[in-house]
Amino acid sequence: MEKVVIIGSGCAGLTAALYTARANLAPFVLTGKQPGGLLTTTSIVENFPGFPEGVDGNELMVRMQKQAERFGARVQLFSSLEAADLSRRPFTLTVDGEPVQTQTLIIATGAGHRHLGLESEHKLENKGVTYCATCDGALPLFRNQPLAVVGGGDSACEEAMYLTRFGSVVYLIHRRDSLRASRIMSDRALANPKIKPIWDSAVTEVLDVKQDKVTGVRVKNLKTNAESVVDCAGVFVAIGHVPNTGVFKGVIDLDDAGYIVPKKGATTNVPGVFVAGDCADRVYRQAITAAGMGCAAAIEAERFLEALNQ
Ligand code: NAP
Repeated sequence: MEKVVIIGSGCAGLTAALYTARANLAPFVLTGKQPGGLLTTTSIVENFPGFPEGVDGNELMVRMQKQAERFGARVQLFSSLEAADLSRRPFTLTVDGEPVQTQTLIIATGAGHRHLGLESEHKLENKGVTYCATCDGALPLFRNQPLAVVGGGDSACEEAMYLTRFGSVVYLIHRRDSLRASRIMSDRALANPKIKPIWDSAVTEVLDVKQDKVTGVRVKNLKTNAESVVDCAGVFVAIGHVPNTGVFKGVIDLDDAGYIVPKKGATTNVPGVFVAGDCADRVYRQAITAAGMGCAAAIEAERFLEALNQ
């Protein structure tokens, strides 16, 4: 029987692990499919306090895990949370086919990449369509080739800038005529001579005219309805994220986009279940806000267990 189980090992989960470990609760952290969370797919993180020169996203997460483990957190790799029976305590989770019982649960499952929803996108995934420039940008397939990034947020700007190292030109295809990204990221991206924005445009099809790999995208101008083809060897989709909360549907309160709705601070509608990070945050979605929520969830879990024991 665990006192605290934490699902997810991004900034939220590992900060919750650090705090609950230091409270002597020996938290059991289940990593999820992507140990370290989405930050491990970023190159340099420049806005996490304490790192004036920036820090590699993967390194930051490895350090967070080590810090939590130093105080007694146990971190286990797992790929699938199949079920969560939260109707009575102890809660029972089914993790990769095995039951795990716990007195409290901290949900820090984060969010996954949003897809365009095109059949051709799905068909050409890993054949030129990707969701992570840091992971795939350096592949030979993309070297010295025209590349396309879809999206207008910080992720799209970051991906586009990263890809200028490898591609001959990087088209930034955005559905509006101004970027959603922060000022500093937009200015940097638009000042880069290798980045060519294509405004007011949606990708309607990913093309593979020659063989089973991306050769271009069909783009529709949303103001004029004119269609054109942009030749490119890679399509990097960076259009935001969807929360990983499906398994909690009908049990934990979710909003219409699937984000968990916290009750007060980091508590949920189920006593003993707490939440932190991107799975409950459709507004800020920063590494530092996720870490802050992880801390809050840990303190709530500690207080809950203390009250149970009194
Ligand atoms: P985001 O801010 O939600 O931006 C998503 C972008 O994709 C928006 O420009 C949106 O267009 C576009 N989009 C959404 N759905 C689309 C669709 N179906 N088709 C075409 N375009 C679509 O997501 P994000 O860029 O991943 O950033 C998420 C959070 O992480 C933000 O808070 C961001 O600040 C943070 N972040 C920070 C950094 C950094 O500081 N270094 C790096 C990456 C991410 P509209 O603009 O028209 O809505």
